[in-house]
Amino acid sequence: MSDSAETTLPAVFVGHGSPMNALQSNRYTEAWAAFGAALPQQPRAILAISAHWYINASAVTAMTAPNTIHDFFGFPEELFAFRYPAPGDPDLAQEIAEVVKPTWIGMDRDSWGIDHGTWSVLAHLYPAADVPVLQLSVDASKSPDYHVALGAALAPLRQRGVLIVASGNVVHNLPALDPNRPDTGFDWAEEFDEAARTLMAQAPGDIAALSRHQRYSLAAPTPDHLLPLYYLGGLAAAAGETGRVLIDGYALGSLSMTTHAI
Ligand code: ZN
Repeated sequence: MSDSAETTLPAVFVGHGSPMNALQSNRYTEAWAAFGAALPQQPRAILAISAHWYINASAVTAMTAPNTIHDFFGFPEELFAFRYPAPGDPDLAQEIAEVVKPTWIGMDRDSWGIDHGTWSVLAHLYPAADVPVLQLSVDASKSPDYHVALGAALAPLRQRGVLIVASGNVVHNLPALDPNRPDTGFDWAEEFDEAARTLMAQAPGDIAALSRHQRYSLAAPTPDHLLPLYYLGGLAAAAGETGRVLIDGYALGSLSMTTHAI
């Protein structure tokens, strides 16, 4: 038996859907909780790559006590009252910056924190909130391949006790939401989500091919929710692994809720 320091932690891309999932219990949140409960060891820290920190730079949060950020409007007061009080880990932020060199990652000491793409998932996946949580931004200015490569560069962290949790939605088209389709997807949404599954299962290093898929502009009219999956594709490729689907489904026609793990 190898000791725990040599354990490779799994990594995951979670289809997070509505912020209300933070407070609800449903088949998606139950699958997230089951994934967290099955971890081979308590993580040293969680590195979250959330669709909701989409800026023109790669940065990692490096504060000791990150704020819970309520980056939405029009939701019930109880959602604004939610806190995920995990500490930060500035030393690990520095370590991450070293691991990904020569790619440059900035240290964010005072602007971001833990956004709902992260806490709506961690509320179920790691409810104890007793290990540090860092976030890595998604750089809106970079090519699709950049995100795959940066994901691959993060691979050594999985042997250092860091649980990597990417959070978005493979299909995320808010203007196309259809209240008459609570639990089903449009044909184009299913087609795109299937293409993502095939790539994760067969060639995760090629996941950026989704950016050239014929349904891309419908599935990802802005790529913020898709790009976190590219980090998992890079992580899988770096480790010679392929993805498996933890839970899948559709919401309101134009959201896919598929969660991929390695
Ligand atoms: Zn979101």
